[in-house]
Amino acid sequence: MSRHAVIVGAGVTGLSTAYHLARKSYGKVTVIEKGRVGDGASSRAAGIITGLLWSETGVRARQISLTRFRELSEELDGYRFQDVGCLNLFDAESWPERERLLPLYDRLGVEYRIMDRAEMAATWPDLAPTGEPVGLFDPLGGYSEPDHYLPALAAGCRALGVEIREGCMISDFITDSGRMAGVVAGDERIEADAVVSTVHVWTLKVLESIGLQLPLKSFVHQRYVTAPLPAPVRIPAVNANPYGGYIRPAYGQRLLAGIENPSAPEFRVPDRSFEMAAISPPPGLGDAARDNLLPLVPKAARSGWTDSAGYADNEGSAGSAGYADWEIEKAGLLSFSRDGEPVLGPVDRFPGLHVGVAFHSGGFAYNPASGVLLAECVADGKPGIDIGDFSPNRFDPDETDAYNRTLITHAEYSLSGHSRRH
Ligand SMILES: Cc1cc2nc3c(=O)[nH]c(=O)nc-3n(C[C@H](O)[C@H](O)[C@H](O)COP(=O)(O)OP(=O)(O)OC[C@H]3O[C@@H](n4cnc5c(N)ncnc54)[C@H](O)[C@@H]3O)c2cc1C
Repeated sequence: MSRHAVIVGAGVTGLSTAYHLARKSYGKVTVIEKGRVGDGASSRAAGIITGLLWSETGVRARQISLTRFRELSEELDGYRFQDVGCLNLFDAESWPERERLLPLYDRLGVEYRIMDRAEMAATWPDLAPTGEPVGLFDPLGGYSEPDHYLPALAAGCRALGVEIREGCMISDFITDSGRMAGVVAGDERIEADAVVSTVHVWTLKVLESIGLQLPLKSFVHQRYVTAPLPAPVRIPAVNANPYGGYIRPAYGQRLLAGIENPSAPEFRVPDRSFEMAAISPPPGLGDAARDNLLPLVPKAARSGWTDSAGYADNEGSAGSAGYADWEIEKAGLLSFSRDGEPVLGPVDRFPGLHVGVAFHSGGFAYNPASGVLLAECVADGKPGIDIGDFSPNRFDPDETDAYNRTLITHAEYSLSGHSRRH
């Protein structure tokens, strides 16, 4: 008899899980989405990836992602991984902590290059970091455009026979003698051999009905895209921590930048039907993103623009600091676990239930690996790499309860040492 897996949530994590399950010829695979594909954080992401993370499990998972992003460029129509590399910048204060991870990268065979400002300027003449940052370059990193990736991945799922049901909200789970046996959507009971919950910031609300809690915090995050610049800009994706955010090239000769907001209060999803479209960027952060990040790219300064180069169309669009203005702004939510690592794998309390959540600001980067690993857990009963450090079973229920009662700001969360980039 054919097996049936139900995946709840059609963001990148859910779609990637469905895609990789279908590739394994698992049986019937259904993705259930309360809104439309990508309605959550996935369509809002900057899509940056670096393999240079801070834990062995994270680094190993990102190795899977970096390989799969390149393969997916061949497998999916309309998607191409932008392999521009990812430059991680550090100041004198933050570098020693990262430097301590270099032996880990060496042991796992991860490529990287340490660069000073002169070398960065020589490699990318369009990039002009101020001060004396240390550059840790990841030659395999880069970015994806979510607007291209999401439809391509959804189409790839459908081509493999996955059913994606949009406009269908899961309100409960079906359990049978302690085993997960399906989901409830409105009046409908959908039976399944395996259920994978990939509902991101909705996780606590969705798992409430079976009394399952995980220590999770959510914060608003925002990113911006310029109008087309008059000339192409050749830079890698830059995780510019000392400048409070990140910047990368974007489609159509644009730049995309995101900015941190340490004073962001914890955001609590009010109910299951909450929509992420209700979030808008807090006032002033667009200016901060322009003032902090665009100066890293002198070609974004309006003073360098000339009519003869066809820049006249941008007349009047310059921002307050003399840099290109934002054409698009997007805000959404990030989800973090108590120890800063993702929560991914089978739930011991309910055999047949799996979760994939809390990917900090890196769920897009993780998604090929998350999909591969969750598909292996579901289909083979065992992931291809050790993901014990990501296990949903690693948290003490009492501590989880106490943690979820506290309300903290993003800065307070970061002080606990667990806020990292992409
Ligand atoms: C502004 C911004 C920039 C970012 N930049 C990056 C970046 O550069 N790199 C990176 O790696 N990550 C980035 N991220 C993080 C990344 O977007 C997320 O980690 C990732 O998209 C999470 O994907 P997901 O599929 O797990 O969740 P989501 O995309 O949020 O999907 C969850 C889905 O579940 C659905 N759902 C919820 N409840 C139910 C229910 N009851 N029934 C049915 N469906 C339900 C929702 O509608 C939603 O579509 C960024 C995030 C933001 C907000």
